Amino acid sequence: MTEGNNQQYQLTIEPRSNHNVSRRQISEAALKVLYRLNKAGFRACLVGGGVRDVLLGKQPKDFDVATSATPEQVNALFKNCRLIGRRFRLAHIRYGREVIEVATFRSHAPESPKTELNNEGRILRDNTFGNIEEDALRRDFTVNALYYDINDYALLDYANGLQDMENKTLRLIGDPVTRYKEDPVRMLRAVRFAAKLGFVIEQEAEQAIFDWGHLLKDIPSARLYDEILKIFHSGYAVKAYELLRDYQLFQFLFPQLDIYLKSEPAESILDFIEQALVNTDKRVAQDQPVSPAFIFAVLLWPLVHQKAIQLQADKISTLPALQIAGSEVFSQQVKTIAVPKRFSQISKNIWSMQPRFSNTRGKQPHRLASHPNFRAAYDFFCIQSMVGLTTFQLCEWWTQFQIDNPIEKPAHRKPGHRPRRHRNAVTKSPE
Ligand code: ATP
Ligand code: MG
Repeated sequence: MTEGNNQQYQLTIEPRSNHNVSRRQISEAALKVLYRLNKAGFRACLVGGGVRDVLLGKQPKDFDVATSATPEQVNALFKNCRLIGRRFRLAHIRYGREVIEVATFRSHAPESPKTELNNEGRILRDNTFGNIEEDALRRDFTVNALYYDINDYALLDYANGLQDMENKTLRLIGDPVTRYKEDPVRMLRAVRFAAKLGFVIEQEAEQAIFDWGHLLKDIPSARLYDEILKIFHSGYAVKAYELLRDYQLFQFLFPQLDIYLKSEPAESILDFIEQALVNTDKRVAQDQPVSPAFIFAVLLWPLVHQKAIQLQADKISTLPALQIAGSEVFSQQVKTIAVPKRFSQISKNIWSMQPRFSNTRGKQPHRLASHPNFRAAYDFFCIQSMVGLTTFQLCEWWTQFQIDNPIEKPAHRKPGHRPRRHRNAVTKSPE
């Protein structure tokens, strides 16, 4: 499969006694799925981030299973199963909040009639089933192609992934340019994993990002939205943001902001983005909910702020100026990244509420605090105060106000219920 590249891979099998992936680190739901498939006579392995992160001593974000069972066979085995996917079919098996994604072994077969490529070599649809070895070699990075076989608990390494784990290297399986052309989102995945794992991107794969980053222009905006959230909600947003700019990919995601950032803006605005991302990373680390609306409110604020000031100079008052600026900026941004309306509306609310934090008299604070997006707007305001964009005393005033006037929780909310963190398990890339 390694066309355009002479690499030859050989399978290495590490028996249970040679590796430290233990069942205790795998979720019960994932184990259930693996065992049931295995008992029904199918091959069933944990693969991808679930193996990689456990090997690194990290908590996996989710568990992915690869199996010899077809999607229909998986569906017949689990009543909590749903088949999804347009580009390729996957089974989602749900246990409470946890979703285990089960994919049938597939081959990397650009020549197959079942694989649809566009003119640039991008894979549009790919549903050719294959064996486990083929499945390993169609994956993106060598460290993502490690399999933990539930049958004998052995670790299967088809692409020298263990060696790259040791060297902390992200290496594409096969020729980087071909693999990026098949799916340009792999460039974003490289950046995300580099940020999250602290790995380096292998040299050829790194250079190819500079040469082929522009292919991201052809990626549907809905898929970029999913990927952007994975990047900014990974818990490593600060690092990923820096890498996206270093690798010159930011221009294809946030074209307006990229131009703005290159225009040498005030330090405080740059600090604001950085500080907000630091906070987001902290929230993820503490398992607190994070929202797409907040991320977009932060990243687009420099543009909205600047536009609103221009509008105010043209005698438009503060609130309409913010509203007009917010709508204009979003209408440009969604051409690249399809932010759903329900989130962009909240971002706009966060912006429009900002001037109201200066008004601490009479009933106004109570009115503001009763807004459904108050908490997010308050966090946003205080981050601004931390970098000198608003006054710190005001942030403290509002902190005290909330202590003195605790917001009553709606009665229908069950005790212990927390808003769910936004997840995008449904969208998968064409590999
Ligand atoms: P995480 O779950 O932490 O984001 P992951 O490596 O598990 O990391 P997923 O998006 O869950 O990433 O995908 C699971 C596996 O599927 C990957 O490890 C990789 O083997 C394969 N994969 C996913 N997307 C692609 C892609 N675009 N090209 C090739 N292989 C992919
Ligand atoms: Mg995963």
